[in-house]
Amino acid sequence: MDPLDPHAVAGAAPPPPPPPAPPAPGTTPEQDEASGPRVVRTDEGAEDGLAKCLRCGATEISLNPANGNLRCSYCRFEWQSGNALETLDLNGAIGELTGVVVGSGTADIVPSTDEVLTFRCTACGAEVVIDTRTGTQARCHWCRNTLSMNQQIPNGAVPDMVLPFSMTKAAAVQSIADFVTKRTFFAHPRFKEEFNPENVMGVYLPYMVVDINAHARLTGQGEHQTRSYTVKSGDTEKRVYDADVYDVVREFDIHIDDLTVESSRERLNQSTSQNSNNIINSIMPFDVENSVRYDSNYLSGFASERRDSNIDQLAPVATVQAEDIARHKANETLAFYDRGVRWDAEQVEVVGQRWVSAYLPVWLYSYHETKPNGRSFLHYVAVNARTGETMGSVPVNQRRLLLVAGAVQVVGTVLFALITLVGG
Ligand SMILES: [Zn+2]
Ligand SMILES: [Zn+2]
Repeated sequence: MDPLDPHAVAGAAPPPPPPPAPPAPGTTPEQDEASGPRVVRTDEGAEDGLAKCLRCGATEISLNPANGNLRCSYCRFEWQSGNALETLDLNGAIGELTGVVVGSGTADIVPSTDEVLTFRCTACGAEVVIDTRTGTQARCHWCRNTLSMNQQIPNGAVPDMVLPFSMTKAAAVQSIADFVTKRTFFAHPRFKEEFNPENVMGVYLPYMVVDINAHARLTGQGEHQTRSYTVKSGDTEKRVYDADVYDVVREFDIHIDDLTVESSRERLNQSTSQNSNNIINSIMPFDVENSVRYDSNYLSGFASERRDSNIDQLAPVATVQAEDIARHKANETLAFYDRGVRWDAEQVEVVGQRWVSAYLPVWLYSYHETKPNGRSFLHYVAVNARTGETMGSVPVNQRRLLLVAGAVQVVGTVLFALITLVGG
């Protein structure tokens, strides 16, 4: 994955705009840039109700977390939904992206949407209720078949795509145990006592995956040192630097591929005193390009957190990241200006953007610490269920931490004394 693809530097003219792309299959061509985003339907052909095993017809289907396939619990047949970005035509060249393209699973959430849906079981005719606040499946209480909701309704429950778990619970438990073991010296004794990695839970967290085609133009002034010398005035010497001042312009295209933005309001709140969201950020990135088309069966046996934020609310986050990337990219070309560059204007114009909603897989171990003052603090250890990357916070034994800090101080003082001796 190459997230950055700057085309031109200093003063280069922007490339001519690409010709308008023909409407992709599955899109609604009557919608153009003027009338709003171009919507790519991602639940075309998705059916609610009985999702059957392709070989034996059973509805007892779940994810095999060892390889990310769906597996029939009866005949053990395994298969996978198609790659989402490719089959849904959400993967076109970013350089040709104009306007706003969105997957239908990113639709604005409509607060009045019914969250408890009733389906008729096609096997026995009974009415089965699915509460979309807690899941997208339910078992028919008469015939025991599993019913799934795969069609999108505007409540954030069904995204465009899902990145399946490809790490078993056993592997996650091991990873979490290793993480905690390395930190047990400082860990609170109560935490060590109560630590039980078997309590780890698999959860799909909601994200927006964003591609951005932007044009950046930064203008300012840079200084390049030409000479440095010493000037005597009386008894004192002064170091003097001569520098040339230049007007600096950097203008280039940036293509940002698969930027992931949290789409859960709670997780967007970065206040670390209340939660440990930065832990989730530090187990990034996910190989979102391998996401598959949504199928409720991928969620079977896992928890999921529903998306509750719309593109309007998340767009500023994506724009800020695009600006950061542009500035970073420009900085790489400024070696000549050894006395620095001050930007007076930074413009990042988003030419095209594509938004796709996704569920990303995380193994999560949580622990409530009750502080001496009675307040509760939630600790997490999280494992990226694709890469195994593990990060977390562990309640710390303050006394032991202070003792060690004191010891380091003593060692530091001794070292300092030695250096002084040698130096003297
Ligand atoms: Zn089967
Ligand atoms: Zn039934």
